[in-house]
Amino acid sequence: MMSYGYDPHLSEGAAKTPLFQTSTFVFKNSKEGRAYFEVAYGLRKKKNSEDLPLSYARINNPNAEIAEERLKLWDKAESCALFQSGMAAISTSILELSKPGGLILHSSTLYGGTNHFIKDVLPKYNISSMEFDDNDSLDKIISEKKKKFGDIDVNIVYIESPANPTNQIIDIEKCSELAKKLSTKKNKALLLIDNTFMGPIWSKPIDFGADVVLYSVTKYLGGHSDIVAGAALGKKSVIDRIKSSRVFFGNISSPFTSWLLLRSLETLKIRMEKEAETALKIAKYLVKHPKIEKVNYLGLISKSNKQYKLYKKQYGSGGAMITIYVKGNLDNAYRFLDNLKLIKLAVSLGGTESLACHPGTMTHVDVNEKTKNRIGITNSLVRLSIGLEDSDDLIFDIKNALNECK
Ligand SMILES: *Cc1c(COP(=O)(O)O)cnc(C)c1O
Repeated sequence: MMSYGYDPHLSEGAAKTPLFQTSTFVFKNSKEGRAYFEVAYGLRKKKNSEDLPLSYARINNPNAEIAEERLKLWDKAESCALFQSGMAAISTSILELSKPGGLILHSSTLYGGTNHFIKDVLPKYNISSMEFDDNDSLDKIISEKKKKFGDIDVNIVYIESPANPTNQIIDIEKCSELAKKLSTKKNKALLLIDNTFMGPIWSKPIDFGADVVLYSVTKYLGGHSDIVAGAALGKKSVIDRIKSSRVFFGNISSPFTSWLLLRSLETLKIRMEKEAETALKIAKYLVKHPKIEKVNYLGLISKSNKQYKLYKKQYGSGGAMITIYVKGNLDNAYRFLDNLKLIKLAVSLGGTESLACHPGTMTHVDVNEKTKNRIGITNSLVRLSIGLEDSDDLIFDIKNALNECK
């Protein structure tokens, strides 16, 4: 991965990928320019022998392309499309792969932005959605769909696992089966999964039948809280469609963002491993703390829990996201947050610095109360993203903040 997709001898021998900060690219001659546009607009197919040039940075840029090549390796995907944000990757993929009059089935706990996009934006384009409980049998889910929506096509089954912010995990293989059962001769339902929390190091959803793997690259992949980016990965035929929409939405990742991502990818594995190691120590400390009601940390799922087998099957680590329920009311959760010193109060996650947030009144404030209670986003819930600080320092900070809680 470290050197894949880049040939130093095409760039003055530069050992590291240069930043190609240019909006346009010079054609060698008119014929080359014409060939490029004929293929780009689909007037003819690219010949196997043909090596087409770059033309314009909204369509493609070398830094994004090299980062895409490297991301492909992590997920064992045929193709990758890099975007200006996670939401750009998610919204562009959904719009390209669904259609007016169609239906999206989705798991219950989703990133706040995705939830809003599916429930409040897609209806404007006559795209409906139905939530399903992944604990239900496939037959039950399918008959519920029939009852509510009749025979209308399901274009997408959309899931997020582990879910933000509860760390709930979802059976990817079962959802892939669901997508297959909902497919008809004329309409293939695709399984899309948001893999931001555990991927690509500890979770490879393509192995379990996912068609498109989505990322907020802003989080672990970027890893330093200094870029906003997103990615979609999967079969070439599907990603080519998504890339064609990307050209017209104009939301490809910029050269500089892509260049920073190339640097981030080199330390991805050691960052995530160290963060998970620290997270396990902190989770173990929190579980025993008298002011903590409950800790949702994948690395602490007990063998008797029915999610344990699924956790072992799908994930290679407990990760570095910890969800805690602070005893008492909202004031107490706020007291904890407001008294943290080293851990910063901010949304986002996956950076080298540890962050804490209160999803119930921040990122998920527009999820209705009933749903929030059902999926466990209560006023006591605090989400922690563990970074690269010393574990003793972090525990000291948490201990002091919890001391201020009543
Ligand atoms: C942050 C996040 C997103 C949105 O990504 P942006 O890069 O902020 O657009 C989507 N899904 C999950 C799970 C996230 O944490």
